[in-house]
Amino acid sequence: MEKGILMVISGFSGAGKGTLVKKLLAEEEDYVLSVSMTTRKPREGEREGVDYFFTDKETFERTIAENGLIEHACYVGNYYGTPRAYVEQQLAAGKNVILEIEIQGAMNIKKLYPDSLLLFVTPPNAQELERRLKGRGTETDEVIAGRLSRAHEESLGIDAYDYIVINDDLDRCVEEIRTLVRAARREPVRMQDFIDRIREELKVYQK
Ligand code: 5GP
Repeated sequence: MEKGILMVISGFSGAGKGTLVKKLLAEEEDYVLSVSMTTRKPREGEREGVDYFFTDKETFERTIAENGLIEHACYVGNYYGTPRAYVEQQLAAGKNVILEIEIQGAMNIKKLYPDSLLLFVTPPNAQELERRLKGRGTETDEVIAGRLSRAHEESLGIDAYDYIVINDDLDRCVEEIRTLVRAARREPVRMQDFIDRIREELKVYQK
């Protein structure tokens, strides 16, 4: 069986990457999402084993020491890491594994897995990012200003990604990601109609 593609999806907070990942998972049965381990406290509505494996610092550090994570990073005072076993099993089973992680982790993944695909999701422009963050209506102006300032910092690292996915239309983005993954797996990219047609056309020259 062909191994699957390991793909990282990063993006600004408010870029819509969560929605994009949900749609990919709902529509494609050969895509799976890795659930990270974190020392951050669960937010309202988050579920153990679905959103994260929530744990304490000691357990997290023990897992690092036992080589149980393929990468980890510290982000705003908490540890986040990708459990090794699930990723390796799923890749071996031919699944495309999605990691929704930040840039430090993305860089580590590229070093360890040079064939991985690093995608960065962004709205078409900064005004749109601001509009989406404000549109949620759940965050204070201060939090929004913090997210935008972080977005500026993150924009300095975008060059390290393989592809920028401009999220202006959800369906088009999902299609674009599918095409990128097929290309990375060296699978044909919807060319069969063309192949059939040109074969037919060339038949007249057959000797
Ligand atoms: P949040 O606390 O908002 O869920 O996540 C904070 C940041 O950590 C996000 O950018 C998220 O993508 C990133 N993150 C989540 N899991 C992992 C992980 O396993 N490794 C790394 N490096 N970053 C992660």
